[in-house]
Amino acid sequence: MLAYSMKLEPDLSFLPSGPNGPWDTYLEQVDRVAPYLGDLGRWIETLKRPRRCLVVDVPIELDDGRLAHFEGYRVQHNTSRGPGKGGVRFHQAVTLSEVMALAAWMTIKNAAVNMPYGGAKGGVRVDPAKLSRKELERLTRRYTSEISIFIGPDRDVPAPDVGTDAQIMAWMMDTYSANHGSTVTGVVTGKPIALGGSHGRRDATGRGVYVTAARAAQRAGISLDGARFAIQGFGNVGNAAARILQSHGGKLVAVQDATATLVNSKGIDTRALTAHVEREHGVRGFKGGDPIAAEDFWDQEVEFMIPAALEQQIDAKRAKRIRAKMVVEAANGPTVPEADDVLAERGITVVPDVVANAGGVMVSYFEWVQDFSSYFWTEQEINARLENLLSDAFRSVCQTAEQHKVTLRTAAYIIACRRVLEARALRGLYP
Ligand code: NAD
Repeated sequence: MLAYSMKLEPDLSFLPSGPNGPWDTYLEQVDRVAPYLGDLGRWIETLKRPRRCLVVDVPIELDDGRLAHFEGYRVQHNTSRGPGKGGVRFHQAVTLSEVMALAAWMTIKNAAVNMPYGGAKGGVRVDPAKLSRKELERLTRRYTSEISIFIGPDRDVPAPDVGTDAQIMAWMMDTYSANHGSTVTGVVTGKPIALGGSHGRRDATGRGVYVTAARAAQRAGISLDGARFAIQGFGNVGNAAARILQSHGGKLVAVQDATATLVNSKGIDTRALTAHVEREHGVRGFKGGDPIAAEDFWDQEVEFMIPAALEQQIDAKRAKRIRAKMVVEAANGPTVPEADDVLAERGITVVPDVVANAGGVMVSYFEWVQDFSSYFWTEQEINARLENLLSDAFRSVCQTAEQHKVTLRTAAYIIACRRVLEARALRGLYP
């Protein structure tokens, strides 16, 4: 034990991190800001390892009486600036190293847009579409119970992510509250409005995508009116981003999800597509667009390319194919570092995830504040506050990028890493 604790570089090789996986992407992103950290660089190693990782077994009884075990995680990457905050993902490909990366990106995001939180994330390796509603509820409750030693309104606050929604947050809140002995609404955000959820939370991430895309377009002299956009992923985030962009004059000309890729140069009706996806659980079969091969999605000529599905979708090869004025990252970690370089060389602006999709955590913060005070705001107030805070954060990122002649991603990381490490340095080490 002594030898291990004295090693300067603890061996984390037991973690299931594939080469060039999301965690490696995150580490490289942090390395790129090292030259801009000055004396705070002394603490940079804090960002390169998660504070705590919890791995849990989630056993449930299936409807047919069989037992099934799923692996679940909750990672608190950093809590220097406040409680952990970040979503819970139910997906068949979830791994510990992926959750570590997603938690780390929450640390950066919360600091980049100045939310008083650290970064956390959770997940269960499960395909939720294969479970009945009752099985999904049992899985959610057992997972919540297993991680309840870790979470709490002032410790770590989960929210929806891929494969989870407001109903799952309601079950999480109820389970935590039942174990706690009283109703604790602030333990999760993204809840239904009837349970202390916030107006505007459902569309908040998509609204933030619109706000940052609009500001970036303004800076580049691109009009939103008639601007074409392609979106990968038509779930919580992609759907809201598409609807809101369309309502401001944007034209959805290509959409891809796990079921199909569709194009229509005249524009796809986002409301009709939303109704179709609710019914059919995917864009496949929608009559308002023509199906094309999945890989051809990346060649579409558009003003905005919006990845809103999973990590690592834009590699160097796809970056060379993209024919967009800008990439607006609605998903977390959709672009690998080599692709960032290709896009920068080609003059394609990337509005980074840690700002572009921060609308979700901002309204989660509003929800948490409203839960503590039991005083609820109107949707107009929430949307206005979101728009102001996010526009200010984006402006700071642009100014930092101009000052240091770096990409918007590196600029966002400079702001965020400085904030996290300043808090770390002020708090000092214990003991
Ligand atoms: P979701 O589960 O609601 O939707 C995911 C979408 O991605 C679906 O349309 C699915 O079909 C599609 N998809 C999955 N695999 C795909 C593939 N291989 N190719 C193409 N499409 C595929 O998830 P969501 O909540 O909308 O999250 C999407 C992204 O946004 C994730 O990266 C998530 O971390 C990020 N994000 C979500 C929130 C939030 O509030 N939900 C906030 C910030 C960031």
